[in-house]
Amino acid sequence: MSNENKTIYDFDFSLIYEYFASLERQGPGSPEATLNALSFIDNLTDESHIADLGCGTGGQTMILGGHAPGHITGLELSSDFIRIFNRNASRLGLQDRVKGIVGSMDDLPFEKGSLDLIWSEGAIYNIGFERGLTEWREYLKPGGYVAVTEATWFTEQRPAEIHDFWMLHYPAIDTLPANVAQMQKAGYIPVATFVLPSNCWTDHYFAPAVTAQQQLLARYPGNKGVEEFVAAQRHEAAMYSRYKDFYGYVFYIGKKIDK
Ligand code: SAH
Repeated sequence: MSNENKTIYDFDFSLIYEYFASLERQGPGSPEATLNALSFIDNLTDESHIADLGCGTGGQTMILGGHAPGHITGLELSSDFIRIFNRNASRLGLQDRVKGIVGSMDDLPFEKGSLDLIWSEGAIYNIGFERGLTEWREYLKPGGYVAVTEATWFTEQRPAEIHDFWMLHYPAIDTLPANVAQMQKAGYIPVATFVLPSNCWTDHYFAPAVTAQQQLLARYPGNKGVEEFVAAQRHEAAMYSRYKDFYGYVFYIGKKIDK
C-alpha cells in the first residue's frame, strides 16, 4: 500500500505508534527519576491502588511495579501500546499486580476517592497540567498522592527560537513556580519538585530514538510523511541540545488536601 498521496494526518497514526512502540519509553525519563519521585510517596501498602495515566508501553510502570506495593492500572489511549504493556508485565512476572487498560485520562474508569496514587510521566500535557490535576484529584483518597512530569520553563526569559518552538507545540508550558502554584490551587500540598537530569532526554529518549528513526526511514523509503516526521523528531532533539538550560521536564509530587 502506498502512503504517497495521504496527508500527514492520514498516515501518521499507525506509523507514529509503530515508531513509539519500538521505544522503551515514549517520553523523557529514567528508572532513577521514577524511583526518586517514588521515594516521596509514603502511603502505599499491598492494598493500594495506583493508576499510571498515559502509560504508553509501560517503561515507568514496570519500574513502579517492581518497587511499589499494591496494584497498578496503566491507562492509555492506544490499544497497540497496551498490548505491549501487558506483554511486558507478563515477561517481568508482574501480571497479577500490573495491568494495562485502554481508556482516556479525561474520562477515568475508576471510582471517585478510590486511588492512593496517580502517576503520569510525560502525558498530562494531553489534558493540560491544571485541568489534569484538578480532575484527577476527585479520584484520589484523602491524603492520596499525584506524581507527574511536565515540560517546564527554567527561566522567565528565553531565546526567541525556543520560545517559538514551544508556542507552536505546547503553548501552555509554564515556569516551575507557576506550576507549583497551580498544583496548590488544585488542592494539593506541593510535596516535592525536581528537574529531570538531562540524561533522561539524551540517553533514555533521544539516543534510542536515533535507531528507531533509521529503521522507520528504511522501512518506508521515499515516504514524505515519514521523512517529515523523522525530521521533526530530529529537530526536537537539536532544540533540546541547544536550549536545555531554558526548559526541561520537572517531576511534581503533590498530596491531596481537603480544601
Ligand atoms: N508515560 C509514557 C508515555 C508518554 S507519551 C512514558 O513516559 O514513556 C504520552 C502518552 O499519552 C502516549 O502513549 C499517548 O498515546 C498517551 N495519551 C495521549 N492522550 C491520552 C489520553 N487522552 N488518555 C490516555 N492516554 C493518552
